[in-house]
Amino acid sequence: MKIEEVFESYKKNIMPTYTKTPLIFVKGKGSKLWDMHNKVYLDLFPGWGVGNLGHCHPKVMQAVRDQISKLIFIPNNYYHIPQAKLARELVYWTYPAKVFFCNSGAEANEGAIKFSRKFGQGKYEIITFENSFHGRTLAALAATGQKKYQSGFEPLPEGFKTVKFNDIEAVKNAITDKTAAIMLELIQGEGGVNVASQEFVQALRKLCDEKNLLLIVDEVQTGMGRTGKLFCYQHYGITPDVMTLAKALGGGLPIGMMVVRKEIADTLQPGMHASTFGGGPVICRAALASIKAIRKEKMLDNAQKMSRYLFSRLNAFKDKYEVIKEVRGMGLMAGVELGIPGKDIVSKCLEEGLLINCTHDTVLRLMPALNIKKNEIDKALKIIEGALKGSK
Ligand SMILES: *Cc1c(COP(=O)(O)O)cnc(C)c1O
Repeated sequence: MKIEEVFESYKKNIMPTYTKTPLIFVKGKGSKLWDMHNKVYLDLFPGWGVGNLGHCHPKVMQAVRDQISKLIFIPNNYYHIPQAKLARELVYWTYPAKVFFCNSGAEANEGAIKFSRKFGQGKYEIITFENSFHGRTLAALAATGQKKYQSGFEPLPEGFKTVKFNDIEAVKNAITDKTAAIMLELIQGEGGVNVASQEFVQALRKLCDEKNLLLIVDEVQTGMGRTGKLFCYQHYGITPDVMTLAKALGGGLPIGMMVVRKEIADTLQPGMHASTFGGGPVICRAALASIKAIRKEKMLDNAQKMSRYLFSRLNAFKDKYEVIKEVRGMGLMAGVELGIPGKDIVSKCLEEGLLINCTHDTVLRLMPALNIKKNEIDKALKIIEGALKGSK
């Protein structure tokens, strides 16, 4: 296909639901991407949170190739080995639990919402937070505490109450005899890289225990090593009742998962919830290979090391450039809050061959691969600094 034909086909045949950058990518490796002109880009936001292993990790490719030549798909009314292995692996690295497989973050959260309604036995309210993001399906959208995503799609499913993030009193005030669960991201990704405080999360856990509420932690973006531990909840000294995963879990392939504390996991019985594609053999092999690669290649160690370096450099930028208001985040999930809209900075970086993201209008978001190298961070920061200088 010629370049013009690609753009033409998108324009004619694909619904315009995305704001798009006119780049056509053909190849990826680690933190690098190549476009149709063979120009190389450094990717500090691989896959919108999917690319924790970087692009095209060789172990994931190998696992997928091997599985796809044996058995591509088998539905959930039968057994297969990759699903058994992946579930065992996930439970080993989390907490005593049982899992449910699906295909995306929204679907995992939808599952968690359905789970809490069944578990609640008539209690159905879920408390969520301002600036949260839980996905685009109707219930996940109702859980999302941002009007801009909801407007035009009402009526949304009932039973969601949005309160201020990091405010335990606000949560307490919102609890009624109909409350079934509290649902949050420990670091709000899309909402501007807002980190939950230790005291807040521990108080939430205590509150849920006292009132018999479920604590649902959405780790769709923070999971799989993003914050320097395999899961973000491990920084907080708490265990969720339900955790949702997706994005980086499949090493680039689509998979979602709900991880439910063992004692309550049998709440959903045969026929109550399902997903045709959920946990197919190919995707399970990809996810297994990803987890193995994270461990064997010591990616968490690298993420922690690179995190210290990245944040020290970003904080130095903050002291130097007035346009930076705050630097936030954890591990390799960094948000740089600007006093101006971040769009132009992102465009300037793009011109220099660097891909980053801007969320919530003013927050530059960097989520490099966990195996990123120091010289790649240096290169990226040089470009970002150039863009910041131009916007003083
Ligand atoms: C991306 C994201 C979702 C939605 O995931 P999809 O796979 O796009 O449905 C849900 N929650 C969080 C925290 C996310 O970052």
